[in-house]
Amino acid sequence: MATHRIVCVDHGDVPRHTHIISVGISKDGKKLQASRRVTVADVRTALRAGERYYTVGLTSGKTADVEPYDCACGYLTLRSTADVVKDNNLDDAIRECSWKQR
Ligand SMILES: [Zn+2]
Repeated sequence: MATHRIVCVDHGDVPRHTHIISVGISKDGKKLQASRRVTVADVRTALRAGERYYTVGLTSGKTADVEPYDCACGYLTLRSTADVVKDNNLDDAIRECSWKQR
């Protein structure tokens, strides 16, 4: 089954506050640049189909899977599972994408 490493995230303003709206995927799971942008809606669809998305802490080297998260505000997004450690947290440890530089 396909696995995808998330190397960066895009935050956007949704009605109530800020959420991750899309993520950047490493082509081979080793490169730190994102080769492809995927919306959270598409990640959620892929997760339901059995694909795996994960993050890796740059210092700890630890992996945490990503799961769907339905925020109380009604926005459907993603979060790290319970494996999360400080430096692989999708919400605040993974860097912002820099698509504009390309
Ligand atoms: Zn929310």
